[in-house]
Amino acid sequence: MTPSDKTCFVPEHILRMSPYSSARDEFPGERDHITFMDANELPYSLHRLPAGINRYPQSHTQRLKERLAAIKGVPAGRIFTGNGSDEIIDLLMRCFAQHGEDEIMVFPPVFSMYSNRAQANNLGVVEVPLDERFRIDAAQALARCGSKTRMLFVCHPNNPSGNLQDEQTIIRLLEGFDGLVIVDEAYIDFCPQKSVLPLLDQYPGLVVLQTFSKAFGLAGARVGIAYASEQILAVMEKVRCPYNLSTSSAELAVEALNSHAEFRLSTERIRHLRRQLVTALNDMPLVEEVYPSEANFLLVKTTDGPGLYRHLVSHGLVVRLRHGRSGCDGCLRITVGTAEENQRLLDAWRRYGEPGTPEAENRPARARESDPSEGRFAGVGQTESSPGEAQLPAAKSQGQADVPPRRHTASRSSLETSVVVHINLDGAAYSNISTGIGFFDHMLEQIARHGAVDLEVITEGDLHTDPHHTIEDTAITLGSALLEALGDKRGLERYGFALPMDDSRAMVLIDLGGRSHLEWDCPFNAPQIGGIPASLFRHFFGSLAASARCNIHVQASGDDDHHKIEAVFKAFARALRMALQRNQSGILPSTKGMF
Ligand SMILES: *Cc1c(COP(=O)(O)O)cnc(C)c1O
Repeated sequence: MTPSDKTCFVPEHILRMSPYSSARDEFPGERDHITFMDANELPYSLHRLPAGINRYPQSHTQRLKERLAAIKGVPAGRIFTGNGSDEIIDLLMRCFAQHGEDEIMVFPPVFSMYSNRAQANNLGVVEVPLDERFRIDAAQALARCGSKTRMLFVCHPNNPSGNLQDEQTIIRLLEGFDGLVIVDEAYIDFCPQKSVLPLLDQYPGLVVLQTFSKAFGLAGARVGIAYASEQILAVMEKVRCPYNLSTSSAELAVEALNSHAEFRLSTERIRHLRRQLVTALNDMPLVEEVYPSEANFLLVKTTDGPGLYRHLVSHGLVVRLRHGRSGCDGCLRITVGTAEENQRLLDAWRRYGEPGTPEAENRPARARESDPSEGRFAGVGQTESSPGEAQLPAAKSQGQADVPPRRHTASRSSLETSVVVHINLDGAAYSNISTGIGFFDHMLEQIARHGAVDLEVITEGDLHTDPHHTIEDTAITLGSALLEALGDKRGLERYGFALPMDDSRAMVLIDLGGRSHLEWDCPFNAPQIGGIPASLFRHFFGSLAASARCNIHVQASGDDDHHKIEAVFKAFARALRMALQRNQSGILPSTKGMF
């Protein structure tokens, strides 16, 4: 496909405009040996601030683009970085539409920023509503496109409904419309295989927006990305404000990309929490439908959206009321929170309409005083102004407010591997394990299941050589996560033992007291089990004992190596579960600690 005149439409004043240039752009060569006296910067950083922050950003965005290029398989020359996607949306309208004349097309209910920026730029907005399943009707959209329609905004997955558009629908728009089709993939990291980035080469009018604000957790840094043809980017580069992305934000974005293992762990966790929340919401009063979502939020149709919204606010919970938007009657949009936050939402929701709640007593929500019977909400902001601030104890320790949550994320990077482990010792046996070695994953899952801990492990390593580093570094990281999660070990049972009797026998003793030692009496028949050298299992428990500073004694016998090692992991998990118990005397604050 070759770009049409309309694809390349640029208003006269933009065509005529000359780009801003700084003296530094004109200075080639090594920056290290140059004295910069051109930009009226301070010649040093204040001593508590990062070195180099006194200078205007230069190479940082380039580094970010190169990292993105390597990851996304798009040349760096087709990547644009902005101060959030919001800035890029605005910039697209400034570059490719005639203010006061042209129009954009949106498909409501949708992210309001498109219309908001169109208003700011004096552009018309053509609305073509999504159907009852929040799908775009491509034929209708194309029929509504006029000669002044410069760009279509497709939100994919759609905010607020959470669904994706069919790729075929997007292709129909790309083929049938000769302006820009902007596909906003703000939430695509939760379903990366659905990105339309691979279409970029084929369609010169395609602009793909992504952001670090959502799955990468950098909303505060303001980093948005656009992928488009070089022709489109050339105009955007010319028109954008110089230094539109700060040095610190670009560096944070590179850091986020480098935290790949943790990013995978996090997105999978959010998907899991979303599935749990869907199930729970479906059983809530007033819920008519929880719409399927590929993103980190849910659109929920209820019989009384505004009432529920006010009720939740009065409990210190802020969700987004979408009632009144096209196709959203009674709808709330709820961002997936932590397990505790989701639980808090559900607890408050369940109490809707109960005696003692504002809607039952017809008290204004804001005037409601905190109710001493709701001990678990103690400390939660009751006003609209300070909602998300409050910290709540973990779900299981509610009512034992002084018990610190026993969880920890540990990570470890070496030349060979990159490992992230999150463990929650008071969890519910949730596991998400991915080490690249299927059999090892299965063993680690036993620790979560039989140890009744939440365990998340992502290991990215050099498996093409051998599994040694992967297994060793996973063990070390798991051990340090365990040690940190144990905290001050107050009230800890400390000792555990287990002896499962399948067709194999395994006995494991644990002492979490603080000394490292492994006793290993577990002979194997074959040199390999599940593709892993048998000796590495001993090494795993040895490394774990060392980094978790615990004693582990393992004795196992039986004919089948597979069953034997599985029995060892199960027994280890059972013993761990016992040792992790907290006795009541330790949980209660000791007078010693208080005075
Ligand atoms: C959150 C969101 C964005 C992100 O905007 P930033 O400016 O990058 O924070 C973009 N598009 C949609 C649809 C969103 O929901």
